[in-house]
Amino acid sequence: MCECVVSTAGTGAIVGRRTVLKLAATAGAALAFLPQPHAQVAKPPPKPENVLSPDAALDRLMKGNTRYVDGVAKRHDFNHEREPLRTGQNPYAGVLSCADSRIAPEYCFDTARGDIFVCRVAGNFASDEMVASFEYAVQVLNTPLIMVLGHDACGAVDATMKSVKDGTTLPGHLPALVDAISPAVKAVEGEGGDMLANAIRRNVMLNVEKLKAAGPILSAFVESKKLRVVGGIYKLASGRVELLV
Ligand SMILES: [Zn+2]
Repeated sequence: MCECVVSTAGTGAIVGRRTVLKLAATAGAALAFLPQPHAQVAKPPPKPENVLSPDAALDRLMKGNTRYVDGVAKRHDFNHEREPLRTGQNPYAGVLSCADSRIAPEYCFDTARGDIFVCRVAGNFASDEMVASFEYAVQVLNTPLIMVLGHDACGAVDATMKSVKDGTTLPGHLPALVDAISPAVKAVEGEGGDMLANAIRRNVMLNVEKLKAAGPILSAFVESKKLRVVGGIYKLASGRVELLV
């Protein structure tokens, strides 16, 4: 079969038709994911109030937590926010939270739909899939802040401590959680005080550092000060998030 020859518009370049189709398919797949500057210029973000600096995003997140703690959370009108979010999203913060049912990031920061990009796993650790998800949030959705959100009395960290201490292997797929959380547990061995609280805090901070250093995308955004990554500990009794920076 003949490979028809075509001229690419405006460039004068002559390439084979099959090559053009192949290039178009590859570019199309990439462009569907990567940011498209012209489209962004033409179309305002669905939530203009979410276009914030990293520091302003953190301030807004923590003010939302204060409202939640004080019992004065805003009334969210889910009807009116559906239409602007139908065609896009620009969350002002990402949250890597434990899957524990007592932690509800959207509630505890008093946020609406389209405000925070939440990834959850028991023990709030940054697996490759989590890093990739936040790369999407930061690079494509322009999210300026990520918080790794642990909480007190975390069962995943507690189970990891017991498994490491006793040398036992947990059933099913649970060893995957132990593998991910055990660096934090081992790092606080020998420290005084409450070992579970220490391990929870260390686990948050190790994952903050991991996200900050995750190249090539997140590390570059951190370096250029377009992204902040912070830690937080959710207190079950009060609902307050203690900030770790
Ligand atoms: Zn937990």
